[in-house]
Amino acid sequence: MPNIMEFVCELVNTKTEGFKCFFLLYNMSMINEYDYLVVGAGLFGAIVAHELHKKGHRVLVVEKRSHLAGNIYTEEVLGIQVHKYGPHIFHTNKKEVWDYVNQFATFNDFINMPLAYYKGKYYNLPFNMHTFEQVFGVKSPSEAKARIEKEIKEANIIAPKNLEEKAISMVGTTIYEMLIKGYTQKQWGKACDELPPFIISRLPVRYTYDNNYFNDAYQGIPIGGYTAIIEKMLQGIDVRLNTDYINNRQALDKKAKHIIYTGEIDRFFEYEFGALEWRSLRFVEEVIDQPDYQGHAVINYTEYEIPYTRIVEHQYFEPGLKHEKTVITKEYSSAWRVGDEAYYPINDEKNSALYARYVKLALERENISFGGRLGTYAYYNMDVIVEKALQLVTSLLTE
Ligand SMILES: Cc1cc2nc3c(=O)[nH]c(=O)nc-3n(C[C@H](O)[C@H](O)[C@H](O)COP(=O)(O)OP(=O)(O)OC[C@H]3O[C@@H](n4cnc5c(N)ncnc54)[C@H](O)[C@@H]3O)c2cc1C
Repeated sequence: MPNIMEFVCELVNTKTEGFKCFFLLYNMSMINEYDYLVVGAGLFGAIVAHELHKKGHRVLVVEKRSHLAGNIYTEEVLGIQVHKYGPHIFHTNKKEVWDYVNQFATFNDFINMPLAYYKGKYYNLPFNMHTFEQVFGVKSPSEAKARIEKEIKEANIIAPKNLEEKAISMVGTTIYEMLIKGYTQKQWGKACDELPPFIISRLPVRYTYDNNYFNDAYQGIPIGGYTAIIEKMLQGIDVRLNTDYINNRQALDKKAKHIIYTGEIDRFFEYEFGALEWRSLRFVEEVIDQPDYQGHAVINYTEYEIPYTRIVEHQYFEPGLKHEKTVITKEYSSAWRVGDEAYYPINDEKNSALYARYVKLALERENISFGGRLGTYAYYNMDVIVEKALQLVTSLLTE
């Protein structure tokens, strides 16, 4: 194949009409302006862009929102880092993932210990000896086990057919009624006996006095927020905000040899087989004119009658700083329609089959990789996103 210079000379030599020649040359100059186009400046896209740029590749990032960082976006409000798309706690068991993110920020020693509020009282989460003491008045693990096992036995559920039966078969009726039922119904917009059991395949239950929600070896919040991490990752890389790839794909496709797409996979294919379903969220932020509001980072409201699922008080993600006012966010779960922000994939049989059809289409495409939570229709914690992004980079660089 001739290189660009040879091709240009050939064009000039053949004395092609001036205009046509100019047009072709113009198009040629537009080809391969970048090696990679990364669609989406969330954690996945930013890591891929950063690593490719570090290896000397020319990278363009386009992001449809007006800011970087995707759903881990934090914004400073009155000196407090506000988690705009829900509370984000980084946790992992993998030292290499922890070391990787620590290159870009200093993490504090925040430990996630959410509380539940039910009918005027607070309960510790995840379900542990504190919770059992608060609910049943029991003091020892053997008492708690005996109480819960009695309830499980009485319910006599052999093969759980729905989420309600599954939950009761794991924690008994009392905990289910107080701390799971209403919350889950709000979260998914459906009664628990209409939800599939797989949604709660795991329910952390501990017979120790340990309120740490995660079992992971490493946990924390980046001091100064997550957005600063993404800004660091994207330093020196061309980024275009307010640019939706789908609405500009003709022009953008010409810009790079390879595309990394972290948007919704069904939208990429113009919903050819129909839309994949999600749950959405609505965040209502309030500035409260007092130094603190609830004294804790995250409190879940487990009664169905209280319309929000949780209240986040952002200052407690970076405790120790004094504030005159505090910022809280009430989080509401909501139905999702095409065009709404997608938060939780509904990975049931129907949607999994639909996703498999899109994957088949994706595999037929050359020079494009789908990644991130939207591109692979999955709920992933940030640590998994880090691993998957780094894996993609390795495979791109060894192609
Ligand atoms: C409420 C909530 C709380 C969470 N809490 C935690 C937690 O505590 N700990 C944890 O580890 N994980 C948590 N997560 C998961 C975490 O948010 C994800 O792991 C992470 O955000 C995924 O990054 P991503 O880059 O794949 O996706 P995103 O952050 O969604 O980034 C994708 C980006 O692509 C952009 N985009 C999409 N389509 C286009 C297009 N056509 N053109 C241009 N740009 C486009 C989007 O605007 C977005 O910015 C939570 C998730 C939710 C929903």
